[in-house]
Formats: sequence, C-alpha cells, structure tokens
Amino acid sequence: MRKHGRRVRNEPSSDRLLTLGASFEEPAVPTYPVQPGGRNGSAPPRGAANHGSHLWPSRSIAFSHAASAQIRGELAMRKIIESTPLSLDGVIGDRSKMEKLMLKSSLTPAAATAHRIDVTRRSFSLAALAGTLLSGTPALAKAPLVGAQVPGVYCLKVGAFEVTVLGDGWLPIGTELFAGDRAGAERLLGAAFLPKTATATAVNEWLVNTGDKLILIDAGTSNVLAPSLGRLPKSLAAAGVDPASIDAVILTHMHLDHAAGLLTPDKKVAFVNAAIYVNADEYGFWTSEEVSGKAPDGMKSMFDIARAAIKPYADAGRVQTYRNGAALVPGITSMVAPGHTVGHSMLRVSSAGSDLLIWGDIVHNAALQFPEPERSIAFDTDQAMAIATRKRVFDMAATDRLTVAGAHLPFPGLGHVAKASTGYAYLPLQWGADL
Ligand SMILES: [Zn+2]
Repeated sequence: MRKHGRRVRNEPSSDRLLTLGASFEEPAVPTYPVQPGGRNGSAPPRGAANHGSHLWPSRSIAFSHAASAQIRGELAMRKIIESTPLSLDGVIGDRSKMEKLMLKSSLTPAAATAHRIDVTRRSFSLAALAGTLLSGTPALAKAPLVGAQVPGVYCLKVGAFEVTVLGDGWLPIGTELFAGDRAGAERLLGAAFLPKTATATAVNEWLVNTGDKLILIDAGTSNVLAPSLGRLPKSLAAAGVDPASIDAVILTHMHLDHAAGLLTPDKKVAFVNAAIYVNADEYGFWTSEEVSGKAPDGMKSMFDIARAAIKPYADAGRVQTYRNGAALVPGITSMVAPGHTVGHSMLRVSSAGSDLLIWGDIVHNAALQFPEPERSIAFDTDQAMAIATRKRVFDMAATDRLTVAGAHLPFPGLGHVAKASTGYAYLPLQWGADL
C-alpha cells in the first residue's frame, strides 16, 4: 500500500476540481495531525486506509471539510485533498456500492475490485462523487453505533516530564453522602447541570514518565466495586504502556478505588516489576489488626481489600513507606493532606520549573465542594480535618496558581483553582492538542 503523503504524478485523467477555477502546483507532502497512540506518541500515524473514510460524509469530518471546501473554493484545503491517497480499506459500508461509486468517478475497475484503491483525488472527480453522495444514498450513510466511550487517556507535559491521566472509569456518588443542607446542595448541582440525586464521578490515575522512570500514581479499582470501574488496564494499553514496564506505584491513600488495582481481577500482582510507595501512617492504619478489629462492620471489607491488594508486594519486600515531604523519585515529592484518610498524601510533580499538584481525593464533587469546601464526604476518616485540609490546599493552589490534578475531578481532572465570591471556583484546563 502506498504510504500516505507520497506524491502521485501520473494523472490526472479528468480533473474537475480544476474546473472550480484554481490551478494547482504539485502539492507538497502533507502532514496529518494524529492523536498520540503511544505514551511517547510513537504509534504510527493512521494509514491510507483511514483516509479512505473521507469518501463518506457521515463518517468523517475531514470529508465534510472536503465537500465544503469545494463549494467554497478553498484552495488550501483542496491542496491537501488533492494529495491525499484514498483507499476503501477500512471504510465501513457496502463494498460493491462503494466500488460502483468509485467506478462512476473514473476509477479503474481493476483498482476498484482489487479492494485497494491508491490514487490521489486528482485522478477522479471528487466533485462528482461528492454530488452523488450528498444527493442521497442513505444506505451508505449508515455506520454501526459504537456503544462505548473512547479510552480515558490524556497527556500533558510538566517540564521535561510527560504525565498521562488514565481513566479507571466512574461511579455514582449520592448527594446524601455530602455534609450540609440538601436544598443548598441541590441548588449547586442544578446550577452545574447535574442530577440532584447522584453525580457520575470519575476515578483517575496518573502515569509520570520522567524520561528515566515510569511512575504510576494510584492503581485503580480492579473489579472490587462496580463494572463501570476497573478500566485502568485498558487505559494503560490505549496509552501504549505495558504494566510490567512500570517502575513504581505511588499510592495517595489506600481506599479501594486507589489501591485495589494493585491486583488483577483474578488476584494476581498487576505490576510485576514495581515498588509500591505509600505514606507510613496510611500503611500502618490499613494493615493494623487492631484498627481493623475496631472498625464498624460496614468498613471491614475496605480493610480486607486494602490489605489483600498490598500484601503480595509487601511479602516480596517491595513496599516502601514514606513520610511527608519525602522525595520519592527525582521530581516527585509527597505532601501529606490528612483528613480523608490518616495519611492521605498529595504528590507534587516538578520538572524544569513546571509543577503539577496531584491532589488525590481533596475533592469528590467539584460542583459542591469548590463553592462550599465545608461539604465533607462520608468517606472522610476525619471530616473536620478533611475540611481544613481542603481549604488549605485550595488557598495554596489559588495563591500559587498551581495546576492541579484530582482523582475525582471530571476526566481528565486537570485545572486551576480560583478564589470566588463564595468559596472557590474550578477552572478546567483547556484541551491541549499537542504536547
Ligand atoms: Zn477516591
């Protein structure tokens, strides 16, 4: 198959694009913006097969642009179109109808029936083809519904590091779990266009590539909580990362949505080469027989899950406990933020003058807790302390203009905190198309 971008010089035969009024020079090799397919953006660009989907207006924004470009006579777009090789490979639809259309558009039967049509658009009449499509071939406009979200992967640069937010999925968190008056909570949720009863809440983790090391921060839920969770392995795969290549897993705390993913669903070690870092007080709390023995019945399973998740790593001598302010690896420093759990810790990622504050569970519902930080959640071990910590962290993030990353902020959970007339405001980071 011809690689996209290659020039084709042995045409045109009938070039009705030129009849729109512009003349063309031989186009330069085009560049194609593609989403990074690997953690270093190393996946190959999508090939000519995908460019074939430009044929069908309902399947490609690019085609819509192509069609409208002809209508508007946009020279630049047409240059790109002209130099883009087409292929029917990978185009969803009735193959024989597609081939008939190609034939109608001056493509050779041999090329069409070979199921691989490598030509530039200069060699056939795109205008005629577009007219045919837009005038109505409804069967060809159909495409199967996907029925699933795209992978939860988002990359940003922090100095020389690459940080990839990885989605583990989501869970509904009921409004009744938050402190404060219900009417006020419903007003805040309504203002944020959220349901009043429960909010679909993201569970995010982070992969930090320092250039030398791959560090995962938090491990996801595995299969211990809900089918809408446990998607970290899929997100890692989508980012092009083998779990065996991860050098360390740093836990913000040992709640099951952060630690249970240390094990696979069939209870095997998920990160076979990783050391596990956890705050010393946090580790002591969740692994203490005495503490778990006194815990209410409803909480006992949380202890069981936390202990089971970390035990094989501890047995192998691969658990390292840390204290507040510890530099865990060069560029990642712990900052204890207790209240949600006894040793709940944030991680400050610093490189080349840039910082990202990964704050774990400082917020569980942005619509409620930014404007009213006093709305603690029932999961907090010490609610008063959690409120005080949240206010302190909000103040620090707003004052220092820090970029923050939250485990339960809407995916990808990156943004800034600003002081507002009432409490604080959350300002999500804008999409960065490139690193
Ligand atoms: Zn959590």
